[in-house]
Amino acid sequence: MSDVSTETPGNSRPATDTMTSDPREPLALLFRDLRSGPDGLSSREAARRLLADGPNELSRRRGLTWPGEIGRQLVHPLALLLWLAALLALLSGSTVLAAAIVAVVLLNAAVAFVQERHAEHAVEALGAYLPPQATVVRDRVQQSIAVREVVSGDLIVISEGDRIPADARLLSGYVEADLSMLTGESVPVPRSAGEEPDTGPLLSARDLVFSGTTCTAGSARAIVVATGMRTEIGRVAALTEQVSRDDSPLERQVRRVAWLIAAVAVGVGLAFLPLGVLAGLPVNEALVFAIGLLVANVPEGLLPTITLALAVGVRVLARGGAVVRRLSAVETLGSTTVICTDKTGTLTENRMRPVRLWTAAGDQPVSVPAPVTAPVTASASLPEPPSMPAPPSIPVSVPESVSGPLGKALAACSNADLGDPDRGRGAHGDPTEIGLLHAARWLGADTDPAARSARRRAEAPFDSRARRMSTVDEVEPGRLVASVKGAPEAVLARCVSLLTPAGSRPLTDADRDGFTRRLADFAADGLRVLAVADRELPDGDPALGGGQAGGIDRDALETNLRLLGIVGLADPPRSGVAEAVAACHRAGIRINVVSGDHALTTAAVARQVGIGGPGTAGLQVVTTEDLGDPTEADLDAFLHDDREIVFARSSPETKLRVTDALHARGEVVAMTGDGVNDAPALRRADIGVAMGRSGTDVAREASTMVLTDDNFATIVRAVEAGRQVYDNVRKFIVYIFAHAVAELVPFLVFALSGGTVPLPLTVLQILMIDLGTETLPALALGREPAEPGLMERPPRPRNEGVIRPVMLLRAWAVLGLVSAAAVMAVYFAVLWRIGWHPGDSVDKGTPLHEGYLRATTMTFLAIVACQIGTATAARTEHASLRAVGLLTNRLLLAGIAFEIAFAAVVVYVPPLQHVLGTASVPPSDLLLLLPLPVLVWGADELWRASRRRAATASGEPIPPTGP
Ligand code: ADP
Ligand code: MG
Repeated sequence: MSDVSTETPGNSRPATDTMTSDPREPLALLFRDLRSGPDGLSSREAARRLLADGPNELSRRRGLTWPGEIGRQLVHPLALLLWLAALLALLSGSTVLAAAIVAVVLLNAAVAFVQERHAEHAVEALGAYLPPQATVVRDRVQQSIAVREVVSGDLIVISEGDRIPADARLLSGYVEADLSMLTGESVPVPRSAGEEPDTGPLLSARDLVFSGTTCTAGSARAIVVATGMRTEIGRVAALTEQVSRDDSPLERQVRRVAWLIAAVAVGVGLAFLPLGVLAGLPVNEALVFAIGLLVANVPEGLLPTITLALAVGVRVLARGGAVVRRLSAVETLGSTTVICTDKTGTLTENRMRPVRLWTAAGDQPVSVPAPVTAPVTASASLPEPPSMPAPPSIPVSVPESVSGPLGKALAACSNADLGDPDRGRGAHGDPTEIGLLHAARWLGADTDPAARSARRRAEAPFDSRARRMSTVDEVEPGRLVASVKGAPEAVLARCVSLLTPAGSRPLTDADRDGFTRRLADFAADGLRVLAVADRELPDGDPALGGGQAGGIDRDALETNLRLLGIVGLADPPRSGVAEAVAACHRAGIRINVVSGDHALTTAAVARQVGIGGPGTAGLQVVTTEDLGDPTEADLDAFLHDDREIVFARSSPETKLRVTDALHARGEVVAMTGDGVNDAPALRRADIGVAMGRSGTDVAREASTMVLTDDNFATIVRAVEAGRQVYDNVRKFIVYIFAHAVAELVPFLVFALSGGTVPLPLTVLQILMIDLGTETLPALALGREPAEPGLMERPPRPRNEGVIRPVMLLRAWAVLGLVSAAAVMAVYFAVLWRIGWHPGDSVDKGTPLHEGYLRATTMTFLAIVACQIGTATAARTEHASLRAVGLLTNRLLLAGIAFEIAFAAVVVYVPPLQHVLGTASVPPSDLLLLLPLPVLVWGADELWRASRRRAATASGEPIPPTGP
């Protein structure tokens, strides 16, 4: 399909044989044109079409973008400042300096370009972690395939929350579609299969759905009429799903700081001008120095380096199962204070196994093999959990007169498929329904999905507000039965009778009480409980006429029900979740559970994984009814309490209200969600976390982060990675800031001594530091492994800047001043060795000149040596170096090796000596450098130790620091 992108929109429909002229033509004709039918295609035919038509994806018009991007780097505001400096240098007659500055600009642009490319690739590669899936029927079997493999003529199944994979014509069912991608209209429009051909505009045809739009409600089957670039969206524009690359708060902050520093640099440069002249420099040279100082201190490399650090974070996260959709998410993650998590599938495995049953005939333990289910949207690459050996089977002791209808209702009211393990076909569908189907099979009911769909007449789908689902089935010719299952409260309230072994009888208040007690008993064990009911539908029942949602009236249908029984499903906590919960508590992060499940069930599961347990203020359980109407006051009162909260029987609105209320308290909220209705809360939260396996496409698109494994523990690892990236950005900021002092002080000494002390360092040498020796170690600091104690300290305050005053103190007063003192000491030592006395001239032609070049070279090398110490020190913010290990950042070691090699080249290669004013230094001088890194690092080590002591003394929760 590579040629498609070069076509003009006008004739973008290649005349392949499977193309149709008009997707609105009568169905029979459409089937003929598509050479397909109501059963879809065979796998073999689909594979053939995939080859012929090409994959179902939008090809992007990719031009040469890099010249523009490099150009952008060259006219970046900080770069413009440097251009100006180069111009000034040229005007002052210093061509070498001007050339050097231009080299700085070009090199910086190149480095920034490479870093941003790198970042972009890291983000683009994320697509591979979440290949979008579509449900198709091929060889008459429903299956999940990659969206790119959908071909025209395919029969697709669309359900609530799906992104529609291709342009398609509905064959049956009813959906609501959000067409805003194509029309800009955000109110979902109804779409249903129809008989009459529609001749209006394509986009408003009643029975067409379009690629790239989403299904917000309902479910339907449809036949694909166009794929890839031939779809409407492909024709409108080659839009691609992209991870947005917005400026994160971190980058904005750093940009501000960069400007501040640039302003300071200009100020210092200007101040040096009169100082230099006073010290006896010719105006020309003073100007050169002013420019040099300016160039040295403009932090051009800071921003791209931060972008890269974020991108590296993104990649690390993706490998760990958390795919973020915005670079800035990495940094927000690190400041998370509250995680609001779903229960089912996130804290638990989402593998439901029926374990208890209650009917009017009494309690009945259930034993079925643990269901082995691949979650609904699981991609093929996810490993199936190992199947467990079947526990000893327990006989059904419920009389057939009760177990029969119960089993039938469970089997009918379902859209799951137990699969055929003998033929290697796993179960498919909603895990709750899979669990219930196992119960149905155990009760002796027929669970064959084909027979079920043959009987199905209507469906009121499960919805997280109603918390129940109903189907209408023609159980025998002419006899319709409604089967209902759902949350016990939701079902019981609609029941009027009870099925007993002796037949149906009216439901008494005593029955209801007993039932409620039984329910509490089940739920206290952490079981998910569903009630099952049914009702005969007489001919012409009002429920079947009219109404919305594909023709059935939910309220009229779900009345006067007969209660059949309740089923308790076990869903064990995931392994690793308890540890992750404990880690959150140590890291000062609170966890709230927001679940649609019963209060007791949710609380039991929460307790099992340690939520509200030791290390917290306790657990409070709140149901949506407790929250009252959204006056917020009630909710605030709950949140005021420091206990962790279980919000049970919650609705999607609960999530939204909880998010808002937490925001009002200044919390940084990570909120999980999977359904269409969760999308608003996911958008509103600081970090919306969608489920990659069980979640809908709509939820994913509304989220900031998608968990490929749905696992709570992954959120916690992501928080840790976020904290680590932020810490590392701080580390290289400290590192980059520290060198400024060591570069400035030599000039000040020269100027303040009125020229008595000869200039210790040339401008070009400064540039060599900023341009060469400094760069790689700074990058390497961005890859520093997590510092011990990272997850043992409270979250970073939301409004705390990336650069804290204490960091400046450390960079300038500790690292900077110690370095400056050491550098000056080395300089004077060499001057002394060559026999210089204050006031002696070192100008060209004087006997001391050669020695003087040696001394300035040593100043340069001393700064490099001190920066090695600074880099080592900057590796940790709190901990001792011993706690992290000297050799644990390999990249930094490589960076330091590069730094030394670069410095050696600058000092010993004759042509460079000539340009840069360096001179070879004897080994005896080099020995002077050896103690410097240790000195600088040691001073910082003492500073950190004293800070740690102070923190311990004041009881501040600063992390322990390892061994
Ligand atoms: P959770 O937060 O645990 O994912 P859900 O919103 O999925 O909760 O489910 C809420 C309640 O709705 C469940 O406790 C159960 O009683 C009921 N329920 C869940 N799935 C189904 C289904 N497929 N059909 C009928 N009822 C269901
Ligand atoms: Mg659920």
